[in-house]
Amino acid sequence: MPYQAEYIWLDGTQPTPLLRNKTKIVADDVTVPEVWGFDGSSTEQATGESSDCVLKPVFHCPDPIRGGRNILVLCEVYLASTMKPHPTNTRDACAKAQKKYSKNDMWFGLEQEYTMLRTDGTPYGFPVGGYPAPQGPYYCGVGAGRVVGREIIEEHTEACLAAGLKISGTNAEVMPGQWEFQIGPANALEASDHLIMARWLLHRIAEDYDVVISLAAKPMKGDWNGAGCHTNFSTAAMRKSYAAVEKACQAIGKKVDLHVKNYGHGIEDRLTGKHETAPYNKFSYGVSNRGASIRIPWQVAKDGKGYAEDRRPNANMDPYVVTRLINETVCAAER
Ligand code: ADP
Ligand code: MN
Ligand code: MN
Ligand code: MN
Repeated sequence: MPYQAEYIWLDGTQPTPLLRNKTKIVADDVTVPEVWGFDGSSTEQATGESSDCVLKPVFHCPDPIRGGRNILVLCEVYLASTMKPHPTNTRDACAKAQKKYSKNDMWFGLEQEYTMLRTDGTPYGFPVGGYPAPQGPYYCGVGAGRVVGREIIEEHTEACLAAGLKISGTNAEVMPGQWEFQIGPANALEASDHLIMARWLLHRIAEDYDVVISLAAKPMKGDWNGAGCHTNFSTAAMRKSYAAVEKACQAIGKKVDLHVKNYGHGIEDRLTGKHETAPYNKFSYGVSNRGASIRIPWQVAKDGKGYAEDRRPNANMDPYVVTRLINETVCAAER
């Protein structure tokens, strides 16, 4: 029997790309997803006169929504004219950096925060036409009035597990209707691929509930937390020595402008110095410090080895760009 392959890719929407997908009916005897294509003039990836873009499968997994033999296929986008990576293809450079620094064996853990909205744009956790009680009881909360959307989180976690994604946990966040899941630890490409697939599953599952998943950095102005994607990282050396952990933080401290402008749209609105953030233009690192740009977990200081957490990337960051930059910065300093 033929089966269904859902081809998934990142488009050219600015400032933050959207996920796109379309279904291919695949013959029974095909076991490896084939190259395919799409109309780039409808995704901000081409002009009408030369609209064909190429979808090159790079990762596939079972489709937990459709079940059976059906699969999800993550793709990189290539130019049909030259068969070179499309300008919107950030994964290709991430793969090259990972290969270049393979000896440093970098691992990443990505904490994806997000906000549930109604289709009219108001937060799902806010009463219709009004505001909830101030932040306090919602983070890691339980019980009606404290958390909303739990059915979506449960379904999403089960789906990630059934797809074989490296999801490592979930929690309710500080603003009502805000949640988090974590991916990793895994290398840059695997962590990023799994994050994109997990984002896709989240949008797809929430669609059935008429809930919009927003990755906006600061969905609500005022005294409400923004949404980040804290990026935990370690090299083989950091997993053995505390000096290497500090050296990595110092190396990152020398590239503040480059990193911050590539950590997601609207970062100045989120990294204000309030709401558990450090100001976007002032670099700092410290043990247990959730007001620092980079936090070294207390357990790492105690053990004298481990990893560090760059708290600056936004929820809407491109994981291929962020993990590439950290790979390049930290590994170049280790040489
Ligand atoms: P927080 O206390 O900041 O909320 P979380 O538990 O949400 O932390 O996320 C921590 C992330 O760090 C997890 O995804 C975990 O897999 C990842 N992690 C753990 N050890 C390492 C390591 N050595 N290198 C990189 N990431 C790691
Ligand atoms: Mn977390
Ligand atoms: Mn969090
Ligand atoms: Mn964190």
